[in-house]
Amino acid sequence: MTQKIFNSILFTAIITNAVTIVLINLFDGDIIMNIGIFTVSVLIGIVSALRRSRKITRPLVEVNPDNPKINYSEIIPLINKIRLQKGKIRRQSNEVQSGREQLSLIMENMSEGIVIADPKTNILSCNTGALKLLGTENVGAGDSIYLLNNTEIFRRCIQDAMGGRNSTCILKTSGGDREIIASPSNITDTVNGIVVFILDVTERQQLETMRREFTSNVSHELKTPLTTIYGISDMLVNGIVKPEDTGNFVQNIRSEAERLIILINDIVSLSKLDENSVPRDDTGTDLYVLAEKVIDRLRHSADEKNIELSLTGEHIELTGNRTVLDEIIYNLCDNAIKYNNKDSGHVEVKVSHIPTKILVTVSDDGMGIPPEHINRIFERFYRVDKSHSRQIKGTGLGLSIVKHGVMYHNGNIRVESTVGKGSSFIVEFPIEKR
Ligand code: ADP
Repeated sequence: MTQKIFNSILFTAIITNAVTIVLINLFDGDIIMNIGIFTVSVLIGIVSALRRSRKITRPLVEVNPDNPKINYSEIIPLINKIRLQKGKIRRQSNEVQSGREQLSLIMENMSEGIVIADPKTNILSCNTGALKLLGTENVGAGDSIYLLNNTEIFRRCIQDAMGGRNSTCILKTSGGDREIIASPSNITDTVNGIVVFILDVTERQQLETMRREFTSNVSHELKTPLTTIYGISDMLVNGIVKPEDTGNFVQNIRSEAERLIILINDIVSLSKLDENSVPRDDTGTDLYVLAEKVIDRLRHSADEKNIELSLTGEHIELTGNRTVLDEIIYNLCDNAIKYNNKDSGHVEVKVSHIPTKILVTVSDDGMGIPPEHINRIFERFYRVDKSHSRQIKGTGLGLSIVKHGVMYHNGNIRVESTVGKGSSFIVEFPIEKR
């Protein structure tokens, strides 16, 4: 190419000189004419040089690095370099693009909400999880973050983060409880924006409420018999009780102490199940044999009420925890006796199976459970009729232990009950694959 440009300039100079010489000879002696001829020749030279150099550089301007028709060998290394560079840029931009797509895919498929906002509280990015959790629609980049939620508590949380402090709050929405975690993003001392995480904490809040209620119920339940024991023993110590009444008072202390022991045992059983600290047995338990033993232990209290106890079904083994299985059957049978009619009641325990499940059914023909209470009887300390239940001893924890024990064995429990006719508690365990 250098050669071509050199040739072109040389050619133009020769032509221009030749024309100038010819014309100067023609108009010999006329100075003005000669100056004119010289000027025209220079102009012709410039135009001609421009046209030729453009012609030479045109292939260079029009060169396509992807499909080069290269006329000049000198630029081939340059074109190769450009081509390599172009490939590198394309690869990097593909990586950036796929990274961006992956990030937005992850954000869109998160159940948690993420919102990024600028220092003016305008949304820069907001995923679908955030909209769903806050129950809003049609809010997105460019909108004010307060369109997501306009409550005072949310505003305060966002403003705290905008002020450079990490901030959290719990929002009560129609869809449940949401935890908002707002965190400022600082470069140097100024807040450049905030990141807001939105989490569904409905279950956690419910558990927290349950835990609080449980603690207060336990304290109450423990306090009642202890107060009685303290009161009676105080009277006995101070000699207020007549000698002939002493027996009754001592008996009261004993039964309150018994109540305490049952309550504490129930609490211990429940907390073991709660903590997942119940070990699995190495061997299976024959549920029929287990039910037989439970019935033997309850025979005395059934006889006291003249209630008939029966067991039917087949020998089926289940591997889990024998003590927990015992507690399940014991609590169900104990209730079937307690909430049954004196002198005319029947309790039937049946161990059976269907192709996919092992069934343990405890049925009675006692008082039954009103439909509005059925869903609540498995709650801790829940008793259907508190005044009636006062005569029937119980902690209100039996069915909670049953439910958690069944869950421990990956089973479930159903209740069928009619007031005045009786109840059936049907426990279903999955059949073990051998
Ligand atoms: P409790 O110690 O009071 O028996 P549970 O948790 O075992 O506590 O039972 C909760 C409530 O469910 C009982 O207070 C009772 O009202 C009701 N219940 C349980 N089993 C029966 C049943 N077989 N028949 C009628 N009511 C029952």
